[in-house]
Amino acid sequence: MKYGIIIHGGAWDIPDNFVDNHLDGINNALKLGYSLLEDNNNAIDIAEKVVVLLENDPTFDAGKGSFLNALGKVEMDAIIATDDYKIGSVAALNNYSNPIKIARAIYDFDGAVMLVGEGAKIFAEQLGFQQCKVEDLLVGRELERYLKIKKDATFVPKDAFRRKTRGTVGAVVLDKKGRMAVAVSTGGTPKKPPGRVGDTPLFGAGAYIEKDKLGVAATGYGEDLIKALISKRVLDFFDRGLSPLESTEQAISFLSKNVQGLGGVIALGKKGVGLAFNTPRMAFGVQTDEIDSFIGINQKDKEELSKQL
Ligand code: ASP
Repeated sequence: MKYGIIIHGGAWDIPDNFVDNHLDGINNALKLGYSLLEDNNNAIDIAEKVVVLLENDPTFDAGKGSFLNALGKVEMDAIIATDDYKIGSVAALNNYSNPIKIARAIYDFDGAVMLVGEGAKIFAEQLGFQQCKVEDLLVGRELERYLKIKKDATFVPKDAFRRKTRGTVGAVVLDKKGRMAVAVSTGGTPKKPPGRVGDTPLFGAGAYIEKDKLGVAATGYGEDLIKALISKRVLDFFDRGLSPLESTEQAISFLSKNVQGLGGVIALGKKGVGLAFNTPRMAFGVQTDEIDSFIGINQKDKEELSKQL
């Protein structure tokens, strides 16, 4: 493969009435990403722009549409990284419309890999990023969900993956000059404890990338994805000679067997594309110089795409 992009919109039990929104959101992001690729843009700029579009789409649990934590606040995590081991990551960030832009600013700053909470806010303010109001990120249904599960003492964040809900966004890009980038953004899990950091901003867990190999982005119940070091694990299988598809499948099988985790991964590099998930659904889209635009959400869509991989 010379160039391409793969996107995910969360691995969860996405409800039927949200399927079209997910497919539309992924389709819009894929169109944007692929047209930027064809216009010879840089992988990192493409990954950032695609994730900004998905953060602005209230369908997904990232930016606008983020879940509320146990205190009814929005705390978001994001990461952006390239295949030269440059990383920018942000965690437990309140009230910014596009956390991925702040992750990108940390990437460009180069004086830290990861900033959290208050420190991230100070950094963002210094660069002129404006905080938004929680209402700007809050979609009515999330307030309703929060009020409902707040009263439910038996609800734990992992339940969200078993009950009908939705998730994080991520993209992996290989550009025409052979540069690779990965970007992921999330509002985390519903009713998470304040200060909880998931897999997303952790290099090796929520995302991983190595030159001339693969870029990987994960989604799912973050606590389990961290235990499995899921994104790096995909590369471990790839290094043993497996294809990108086999590497993602083996990593998800490890997640299921060893930590009883729930989630999905997408991967892309010169050797091709891979994706796997053990949740009922994961919204995804892929397009490369060898694969026509393909959008899917069910396991059978993944099987269909796998025939081309
Ligand atoms: N992995 C994210 C987290 O646990 C959630 C998701 O992928 O939807 O924060």
